Amino acid sequence: MLNHRAVSFIFIPLMALLLGLHFYRELSLYFFFMALLAYVAIVVYGTVSISAGYHLKALCEGVTTEKEIAITFDDGPNPEVTPQLLDLLKEKNIIAGFFCIGKNIEGNEDLLKRIDNEGHIIGNHSYSHGYMFDFFPAAWLLQDLTSAEQAITEVIGKKPLCFRPPYGVTTPPLARAVRSLYYKVIGWSVRSMDTTIKDDEQILKNIKGSLAPGAILLFHDNNPRILNIIREFTDFAIERGYKIVGFDKLLGIRAYA
Ligand SMILES: [Zn+2]
Repeated sequence: MLNHRAVSFIFIPLMALLLGLHFYRELSLYFFFMALLAYVAIVVYGTVSISAGYHLKALCEGVTTEKEIAITFDDGPNPEVTPQLLDLLKEKNIIAGFFCIGKNIEGNEDLLKRIDNEGHIIGNHSYSHGYMFDFFPAAWLLQDLTSAEQAITEVIGKKPLCFRPPYGVTTPPLARAVRSLYYKVIGWSVRSMDTTIKDDEQILKNIKGSLAPGAILLFHDNNPRILNIIREFTDFAIERGYKIVGFDKLLGIRAYA
């Protein structure tokens, strides 16, 4: 699999060589710019595509032929949506994963406790989750992830071991921060696009079409529209013989220290 170190190891000397050949052998700059363009394209792809494992290895699906999948919810806990979602999951006897934002836990401690008490898995999804999150240096990111970890641990009494990067974006500083905290990075294989696609039927069509053993689906529990989507999707999956399990079970990993 491509990773940033190997790609840089090849492309940086190559670009230096092409530049040298331009100045000393009058080689056209075209070759240098083509190499630069290819390098930038690979880095951008690796940064925005969590499944590429480019900066950081992420677990994005279970390796199984069993009809088992995991559903995960990012960006909560949300006082409006999360309680209704928990009611629905309880009614259907489904275990799910919740990647919580540290700052959202403040004032919603009982809700976080409820998520844990009902058997769901809680992971770290950063403290701030700001738009500029990925542009901060490693020391700042380390502090942010540690603050979220403390917020979770103080409420549920367990230290999370799993982290999901905001927006699924990874960078070299984030990779350093995550490694120093020994987090496992959890991605997804099916992105529901519940925050961008406005038509519920289109979302349902996409996610039903992606149903496959080992799939990890990404939703957001700050979006009330997911309630109907989850109800219909989980009925569909269960009717087809699928079991919906915690992502830790699907991946065979520990969720807490
Ligand atoms: Zn998020």
